[in-house]
Amino acid sequence: MRLSKLYMPTLREDPQDAEIASHKFLLRAGMIRKSASGVYTYLPLGYRAIKKIENIVREEMDNAGAMEILMSAIQPAEIWKESGRWEKFGPEMFKLRDRNDREFCLGPTAEEYFTTLVRDEVKSYKDLPLNLYQIQTKYRDEKRPRFGINRAREFLMKDAYTFDTNPETLHEAYMNMYRAYEKIFDRLHLDYKIVEGDNGAMGGSGSHEFIALSETGEGVIVYSENGKFGATEEKAPVEYILPEEQERKDLEKVHTPGAKTIEEVSNFLNVDKKRCAKAVDLVMAGERVIVFIPGDRELNMAKLISYTGVAEHDIEMMSEEDIKAIGSFAGYTGPIGLDARIIVDKSITEINNLVVGANEEEYHYINANYGRDFEGEVVEDLLLVEEGDKVPGTDDEYKFARGIEVGNIFKLGTKYSKSLNATYLDENGKANYFYMGSYGVGVTRSVTAVIEQNHDDNGIIWPIAVAPYEAIVTILNIKDDKQVELGEKIYEELKSKGIEVLLDDRKERAGVKFKDRDLIGIPLRITCGKKSSDGLVEYSTRREMENSEISYEDAINNILEEVSNK
Ligand code: ATP
Ligand code: MG
Repeated sequence: MRLSKLYMPTLREDPQDAEIASHKFLLRAGMIRKSASGVYTYLPLGYRAIKKIENIVREEMDNAGAMEILMSAIQPAEIWKESGRWEKFGPEMFKLRDRNDREFCLGPTAEEYFTTLVRDEVKSYKDLPLNLYQIQTKYRDEKRPRFGINRAREFLMKDAYTFDTNPETLHEAYMNMYRAYEKIFDRLHLDYKIVEGDNGAMGGSGSHEFIALSETGEGVIVYSENGKFGATEEKAPVEYILPEEQERKDLEKVHTPGAKTIEEVSNFLNVDKKRCAKAVDLVMAGERVIVFIPGDRELNMAKLISYTGVAEHDIEMMSEEDIKAIGSFAGYTGPIGLDARIIVDKSITEINNLVVGANEEEYHYINANYGRDFEGEVVEDLLLVEEGDKVPGTDDEYKFARGIEVGNIFKLGTKYSKSLNATYLDENGKANYFYMGSYGVGVTRSVTAVIEQNHDDNGIIWPIAVAPYEAIVTILNIKDDKQVELGEKIYEELKSKGIEVLLDDRKERAGVKFKDRDLIGIPLRITCGKKSSDGLVEYSTRREMENSEISYEDAINNILEEVSNK
């Protein structure tokens, strides 16, 4: 492709709202343009990079025995109502009606769609196992679209679904996809970690997330030094260190004027924060719920969601009125004599002589003890991990990192086949539910992860495997016939050898050409300058930037070799 013909609307200035490098460079390099919040057009260079990733994903899915299909982006509401996710997905789902008032959504994912397809088509165990996938546009009305195509409202996702007859072969299918994902992200040259994820709204019995490490990532992961354990912050188990044991003392109400926060109460009463129960006052799906955890910790909302099954968008903090309605006062909520659903972290049952709110203004109880003075639903672990926490069962402290979730795999078991009544007939002619898995890769988000990990101040540094073009030939001065002649010759030869190559044949100054070349990040570069008449060119890579003066034949050979090693 000739740059004189290429549609590449580069920008000199940094776009205003671009907070992270990938967003900034994709815009500046003329690779994407925003149409609306979280909705983007992919321009020629950007779309080529996306298609590179798409093809790597496709190849590895095909290698793993998955079969590509394409379902509509429009999905009928009925199947979502059947599974119960029409409501549960909440405001993130784009809903629409046709002219006959029939309801649809723009698919945010496709568990229901694939399950009903297979339910209606696959009758016998002889057709199983089955692994189907698609690479399709997904729609999510994200609360906070940001970072360009990293968190968009319209994006490309590869989603795969497996159907098996039992948990053992489901596990094999799951591990097969796990390995395929390793191959995909290796081929994208991403530095990533695989961690245990929370099944959350998806349901099922196990999941892993593939996290591309990046300081700009929205995800936090924890892992052990030896690499044996890794989990998302939501999922990470906490082994809480209890305060020193004490003999149970008598419950006593004390005056605590002005002491509302844990900090204030702990100082006022001179009691370890660990012994001051923290109340988190919530309304979950219309029900008033108070959660108690030790005062020195934070509540892990994902763990609470997974225990209660209430969706995140259905949870809010209690208002003053709610707190009044349960017979309490803000800052003084405690579990004794409270008119609300009470949920406690297990540690609360193990810490004696707690300080708790007395549900009375300016009063707390001291020496409150679980079982004797109050009760509640006990949940094994509701705590958010913190620096300093130990990897359970070891003496090692968790390490923390930030990253971008580029892939996610789930063991769904029979969750969707049961709710959608999807069965096959086994050897004995008996109807059984499918055991399912679902597997997603964020194709467009992966582009951003690659750029976050591969850029400098001047622009993108594409790995060859995902670069929109592998090589670029720059003619320094197009008024010099020798330079033009050699440039054209190299360009044609590279093309004939199957190299994806750009020719900068524009009438621009050398400085502009070099700047653009750095910005768009083409990995392998040849410059035809003054020594063209001797058949000499400058060869460099975007990553190293160091020029070497070599014969054009050697430069071509370098490129062929680099591309064959990608
Ligand atoms: P997140 O926690 O980032 O919102 P998710 O858990 O909702 O992601 P999944 O439902 O597992 O994501 O979707 C599969 C993959 O699709 C994700 O791993 C991610 O790579 C990609 N993805 C999800 N939401 C978006 C989005 N808004 N924009 C771009 N890619 C996305
Ligand atoms: Mg999400």
